[in-house]
Amino acid sequence: GGGIKAEEVDELARKHFPMCMRNLHESLMRDRHLKHMGRLQYGLFLKVLGLSIDEAITFWRRSFSKITDDKFNKEYRYNIRHSYGLEGRRANYPAKSCQQILMQDQPGPNESHGCPYRHFSEDNLQSALLASYAPHGLTAADLPEIMHTVRAGHYHVACTRVFEITHARSGGVKKGEGVGGGESVTHPNQYAARSRELEK
Ligand code: SF4
Repeated sequence: GGGIKAEEVDELARKHFPMCMRNLHESLMRDRHLKHMGRLQYGLFLKVLGLSIDEAITFWRRSFSKITDDKFNKEYRYNIRHSYGLEGRRANYPAKSCQQILMQDQPGPNESHGCPYRHFSEDNLQSALLASYAPHGLTAADLPEIMHTVRAGHYHVACTRVFEITHARSGGVKKGEGVGGGESVTHPNQYAARSRELEK
């Protein structure tokens, strides 16, 4: 149990992913490609979410729909297997925490990894938040408070506030409760796991 299928990722993204993973998923669906650091950040997150190696190969093959099987097998299959500890030195790579995503490897132009609260312009962040989370109850009236937190450099606090607002209806999460027990968001997988639990 607990495993997820390649075809379920799209719905999970819309319902349960934090902004960083929503952005990676949407960039991948739009461009049918992600650069290396984006594949790494998103791929490890999906692994921890419960995508098996076989489902991961299926997911990435379908997502990279503009390239041939030959190119996919030569350039991408090894790296996906590697991130599952099945190639090279067979390390069990953990998914990156918010701290790592915020501090390491700042995204350059045309890269989609990183934390949108930190790495997007204010305008882009606000449009992305509304596009992603308006269906879950976020409104333009919530943005000033979120942007105030972002300007103060408290990115994970902004992310936690978005979690609270977007889970106020389904699970009855209140302001200050965070992802549970007053805890702030510290890891994208913690965000997604809590969101999925609240749906049950
Ligand atoms: Fe992702 Fe963490 Fe940034 Fe939230 S605070 S968007 S979970 S990196």
